[in-house]
Amino acid sequence: MTYPLLEARDISRTFSPHEDLIGKVVRTALRQPIPAHVRALSNVSLALHTGEVLGVVGESGCGKSTLGRILAGILQPSSGSLAFQGTPFSAMDPLTRASTFLKIQMIFQDPMSSLNPRKRVSDLIAEAPLVHGLLDPKDRDRFVHDALTRVGLDPQTQSRFPHQFSGGQRQRINIARALAVNPEILICDESVAALDVSIQAQILNVFMALKEQGDLSFVFISHDLGVVEHLCDRVAILYLGQIVEVGTVDALFQAPQHPYTQALLKEIPRIGAGKRRFNPIRGEIPSPLSPPSGCPFHPRCPHSTPECTQRMPGLQEVGHEHLAACHLLHGTPSHSLTELSK
Ligand code: SF4
Repeated sequence: MTYPLLEARDISRTFSPHEDLIGKVVRTALRQPIPAHVRALSNVSLALHTGEVLGVVGESGCGKSTLGRILAGILQPSSGSLAFQGTPFSAMDPLTRASTFLKIQMIFQDPMSSLNPRKRVSDLIAEAPLVHGLLDPKDRDRFVHDALTRVGLDPQTQSRFPHQFSGGQRQRINIARALAVNPEILICDESVAALDVSIQAQILNVFMALKEQGDLSFVFISHDLGVVEHLCDRVAILYLGQIVEVGTVDALFQAPQHPYTQALLKEIPRIGAGKRRFNPIRGEIPSPLSPPSGCPFHPRCPHSTPECTQRMPGLQEVGHEHLAACHLLHGTPSHSLTELSK
C-alpha cells in the first residue's frame, strides 16, 4: 500500500483568548461572559503525494495559514493527526519527529521578517545544515555558493546583510535557506503575495524549476487562483476553516461544483474578458467567533435553501478525484478525502 507523503486526518484547531489572572478576576467581578474561542479549522483532511503541488485557496481568515503552520509542525492541532508516509507524528519518538519535521520547510509571505537582519546571507543559509550535522564546516563556502546559484542569486553577495537586497532577492534567500536542509516538502504561505508582479513571476519560475526537478512536493497556499492554476496539480478550496471542494486543477477550473468555488473563479481577471464588470461575492466571510449554522457559506450563497441553514453538507464525490460539499450536489458521500486522492 502506498501512503501519501504527508497526510492531515480530521485536523481541527481552536484558539483561546489569552487571559491572565487579573483579567480573569476583573471579568468575574464584572460578570462578563467567558471570551469565545475561535475555531480556525474544522475536521480538515488532506493528502499530499510525492512530487505533487497541492494548492490551498481561500479568502483571508479562512484558516489556510493555520493549516500551513500545522502541516509544517509549527502549530499543534487541537484534534486530529498528521502522518508522514503513513506514520503518525504522534507515534514517532522525539528525535525521529524532529528529523521528519526537518523534511518539511515553510516559506512565509514577508521575506524580510523571515530573515535575521543581523546575520550575513552566508550565515543564514549555512546555519541550519551545520546545526543539524548535514554540512561539514570545511565545505561551508562551496555549499553557500551552490545554494545561492540554485535560486539564481549571485554567490558574490553572500557576505551582505538582508537589508541590502530587494524583496524578490530576499525571497530567493528564504528559498535557498529552506532548501539547505534537503527538505522533501515546501509549504509556501502566500510566498509571492508581497512582491511586485514582475518579481512574483521570477519567484514562480524558481518554484516551477524546483517542481520540474521532481524531488520536492509543495503545499502552495494562496488567495490567487491564477497563480494556483499555473503552478498546482490539485487544489483544495477552504472556507471558514472547512474544505468545501477539492480536485485536480483541470476538474476544478473547468467544472467547479461548489457555489463558492464558482464565485471565486468568476473573479479571475482574464485577457480578452473586455470591460465586463466584476460581481464580487456578496457579504463578508463570517466571523469564526460565531460561525453560521448549517452550511458555513449559506449567508452569502445565491442558492441557499432552508436546509442549508440547518444541516452541514458533507463532502461527496462529484467526479474523478473531485469532491465538493453542497446540498445541491448529488454525488457519492465520502468520509475520507485521502482515500480518494490515492
Ligand atoms: Fe449554497 Fe446550500 Fe450549497 Fe451551502 S449547501 S453552498 S448554502 S446551496
